[in-house]
Amino acid sequence: MALLATRMNCGEYMNWLKAGQCLLLLQDRLKGYIGGKMLDFHWELSDRITAPRPKKRCQCRAARKQFQPSCPVCAQWKELILAHHNYKNGDIHWGNSNPSLWPTHYWEVAKVYMPRGQAQVRGPEKCDVAALLNLMNTCDYFSGSNLSRVRELIKCRNELMHSADMKVSSSWLKHFEQKLYDLVSEFKHVPGLLSGGEEMQKVLLSELSIGVIEVDGIPKFELQSLITPVDLQGRVTSQSCTITRISPEEVEILLIQQLIQELCLEIEEQGSLTEENEDKVGKIKNFLSQNEDLGFVLQGDLKRLDNLRKNHVPPNAEGWIPPQGFAAFLVVLSLAFSLAYLFGQTH
Ligand SMILES: [Zn+2]
Repeated sequence: MALLATRMNCGEYMNWLKAGQCLLLLQDRLKGYIGGKMLDFHWELSDRITAPRPKKRCQCRAARKQFQPSCPVCAQWKELILAHHNYKNGDIHWGNSNPSLWPTHYWEVAKVYMPRGQAQVRGPEKCDVAALLNLMNTCDYFSGSNLSRVRELIKCRNELMHSADMKVSSSWLKHFEQKLYDLVSEFKHVPGLLSGGEEMQKVLLSELSIGVIEVDGIPKFELQSLITPVDLQGRVTSQSCTITRISPEEVEILLIQQLIQELCLEIEEQGSLTEENEDKVGKIKNFLSQNEDLGFVLQGDLKRLDNLRKNHVPPNAEGWIPPQGFAAFLVVLSLAFSLAYLFGQTH
């Protein structure tokens, strides 16, 4: 509790946490709606597949940003998926999905419209907010809406997750609140999103503090949430609303887990540890060593990060390894010397 108290007293850390909690709420409110939309989308695409369905599942597999179909069904699915992709010429993470499941599993199709790292995710309930927002921005099934509002929030989310010291300023939080409000208004038809918007605003206006209570004469720390009554100024309609009962400690853990996961994916994709990544790893490790309560819970995630770090050492840190061409040159040179020597001996 003493460590938690220190963190709660840091305004910029609390800003980071509040924004993260709002994104978790948004994720919770969007997943049902997006799941339903993707089911409809899958039905529509399935209807347009004319190739005869094979009796057994095909062997087509995708890897990273590559997919070459080897059966007519996957070839047609690929064409249809691309036809509905808003960024056909950009990076498409085919490796997120298993093409042989496209005819039967709607979420395998949805995952093609998402950023990397979705291979193990089987449905919208396990998706983080970045995956859901990117899907909305990338799949033209959502094109009836003003998608610039989705893009603005993706930008905010990335800024939040790239802040390795887990701090954002109050002016940034204000900017984020506006972008969040813009998105909620754009998708106000989504069931539960308006009431979710009210909850998010309460989170942003809430004050958390650590109080001291006495139990059997012994002073103990207790986390207290002081929710300020909100005047919503008609920005969202008044509906019954309840703050999602998720403790600040749980939010902290979920967010830092996402931060580490994002960093792991970045290192894996780049194939080496950049200076920027090394700096981020250092900041996270430093934070978790100072906050042992979190470090203890997140030791598994930290271990994964450490392993990746060890396996992605920059090439020159391992010592100089002669390139193949240079080795061949040395062989030719030594042969030439031997021949010259032999030639000299015989004459
Ligand atoms: Zn196939």
